[in-house]
Amino acid sequence: MLNGISETQAIMDGDLVPSYRKHAIFSLILTLPFFPNIFSLYLAVVGSSFPDFDHPVQKKNISILFFAGLSLTLGLYILKLPYTIGLIMISLALIFYLSHHRGFTHSLLGITILSTILTLLVLSLYFFLDAWELSEQAILVIIVIFLGLLSWNKRVVILFLLLAALGVFLTPFPGLNLYNIMGALFLGFLSHVILDLFTPSGVEFLRPFSDKKFKKAWAFLLIALWALVAVYYVLYVGY
Ligand SMILES: [Zn+2]
Repeated sequence: MLNGISETQAIMDGDLVPSYRKHAIFSLILTLPFFPNIFSLYLAVVGSSFPDFDHPVQKKNISILFFAGLSLTLGLYILKLPYTIGLIMISLALIFYLSHHRGFTHSLLGITILSTILTLLVLSLYFFLDAWELSEQAILVIIVIFLGLLSWNKRVVILFLLLAALGVFLTPFPGLNLYNIMGALFLGFLSHVILDLFTPSGVEFLRPFSDKKFKKAWAFLLIALWALVAVYYVLYVGY
C-alpha cells in the first residue's frame, strides 16, 4: 500500500515507488547481520529515509531544513557554542536542493557523501551534548530524536521513534565509532537505492559521471554482493 509522500511521488512519477515502510524494513534486513544493536539499526532506517528528500514535493521541507540550520548556526554562534551542527544541516539542504529526483542523492558517490555528512552530524551532536555532561544513553536518545525530526515528516510513526529511543536507553551499546555509525548509515542509504533500482525509471547510480539509468539487474547484483559479504561477516568476523 502506498501512502503519504510516496503516494504523491507515485502520482508525479507515473511510476510505482517503494513506500517509507518498505524502505525501513529493507534497511533493517541489510543492516542486521553487521550491526545488531538498536542505535545502528535506527541509523540505517534514518539513512534509508533520506534520499527521497531530492523529490520536488519535498522542496518545502528542504527550505525548513535550510532555515533551521541557518538559525541554529547563528544562534549557536551568538552564544559562542560550536555551530557545526547548523552548518551540516545547511549543507544537507543544499545537496538535496540541487539534486534532481533519483539523481545524485541516489548515486554511489552521493550516498557515500551523505553518509559521511550524517556521520559528522551524529559525532558533532555527540560531542556537543557530551560537553553538558549527560550520560551516554541520554545523548544517544537525544540524537535518535533529533535525527527522527530531521528525516521524517510528522505523519511518520511517533511510536517507532519512541521505541527506538527506549531501545537505545535499555540495551547495551557496543560503542560509538566510525564503523558503527557510518557503516549503518551507508547500508541504510544503499538499501534505499537497491529498492529504487526495481522501479521502472531506475536510478542514476553513477551520477555525476554518467546519467545512465541502472535497473533491476543491478539490484540483484548488489543484493548478491551484500549476501556474500554478510555470510562471510557472520561466519568469520561475527558478533
Ligand atoms: Zn528514492
